[in-house]
Amino acid sequence: MDKQQEYVLRAIEERDVRFVRLWFTDVLGQLKSVAIAPAEVEAAFEEGIGFDGSTIEGLTRVYESDMLLSPDPSTFQMLPWRDDRDRVARMFCSVLTPDGEPARTDPRAVLERQLARVADAGFTCYIHPEIEFYLVNRDDQGRITPTDDAGYFDHVPGGTAHDFRRRAILMLEQMGISVEFSHHEGGLGQNEIDLRFADALSMADNIMTFRAVIEEVAIQEGCIATFMPKPFVGQPGSGMHTHFSLFEGDHNAFYDPAGQYQLSATGRAFIAGILRHAKEITAITNQYVNSYKRLWGGDEAPSYVCWGHNNRSALVRVPMHKPGKAQAVRVEYRSLDPAANPYLAFATILAAGMKGIEEGYELPAEAEDDVWALTDGERDALGIEPLPTSLKRAVSAMSGSDLVADTLGEDTFEYFRRNKRHEYQAYDAQVTDFEIGQFFRRV
Ligand code: GLU
Ligand code: MG
Ligand code: MG
Repeated sequence: MDKQQEYVLRAIEERDVRFVRLWFTDVLGQLKSVAIAPAEVEAAFEEGIGFDGSTIEGLTRVYESDMLLSPDPSTFQMLPWRDDRDRVARMFCSVLTPDGEPARTDPRAVLERQLARVADAGFTCYIHPEIEFYLVNRDDQGRITPTDDAGYFDHVPGGTAHDFRRRAILMLEQMGISVEFSHHEGGLGQNEIDLRFADALSMADNIMTFRAVIEEVAIQEGCIATFMPKPFVGQPGSGMHTHFSLFEGDHNAFYDPAGQYQLSATGRAFIAGILRHAKEITAITNQYVNSYKRLWGGDEAPSYVCWGHNNRSALVRVPMHKPGKAQAVRVEYRSLDPAANPYLAFATILAAGMKGIEEGYELPAEAEDDVWALTDGERDALGIEPLPTSLKRAVSAMSGSDLVADTLGEDTFEYFRRNKRHEYQAYDAQVTDFEIGQFFRRV
């Protein structure tokens, strides 16, 4: 038993915890949870808790359905939305095979593998996401409407959004997740909460926790929170712009006081890697048929593969920072949406960036213009390519990608591909209201 495990056992006793939830994530990024009695926790640390993995989407093939959950004691937290009498805590887990090997389709293990590679190269990755979501009400007919009619940065006195963000932030802070900013976003009922940076694995865990907290607070406020990338036609989509930096010890490897925008050669090669592989990784960063309605629906969602400094139409942005503020130099990836699996998304984005660094990719010229306003011919002349326009195209770009296959591992890659093929085939088979409206009378 190590020190952290002992700390957890002590905390469970001192705080009179009644249930310990073991959390893990399936391939599509759904949070899974099993509650164990406090008396089982010691055994869980020592030999893992057995469960039938075949019941979890994508986790295992039937012939290896017995799996183990091995809790990570550093993620022990009380769940603040449970009442004070029967207290509940949680830990994130690794999923292991009965021989104690990491399960090949555990997304957390996919990210850990990638981070080991990043660490071998001497780096620690820090991540800071800006998470957008809508608060909506649903009527008896299942119609959804936004909870308010405010807009970007509007102060909404009282009202759902105001109370909601306050409650959510207090709860996140209670769980050790620091919030940097929060505000009303551009869409009706749309909000944004930006988390303070953390190392990549903690941040992926934090995002899973964040979604759970937001959903809980929504229930308390009598509304529904949705991370769906484009819930309303004619309103902005919800993105999860994500800022990456690589540190070597205390030194920000993306910082060079002499570089353009104070960006180092390492930072430039990282961006070059992300850009070159952007189309291959889009199925992971934008995993649902609905994600493409955001990417191609305007309202500041990126549609083209290019980078810029403070250029909001670019896929990758090097945000403005105070001159000489070395710690703040970072790279913002803007296509990612909040419905992605954060473990797989961070792993593939990092794989692309690391490839750029390892192979010394050359960074193309930055996009100086609003790339949405250019004609196709102008974009072609500048070598600016579109992101995939649909999930089907994204999956086809991913299918030929050694980078994604190596990062995910064969089982996760194949499962993901199969699952997504079913999704777009089922979607393509629909006859929509749009079609009835347009064509029913005409043909
Ligand atoms: N909602 C926009 C998107 O889908 C982003 C708006 C912003 O710049 O924060 O990416
Ligand atoms: Mg925003
Ligand atoms: Mg942003």
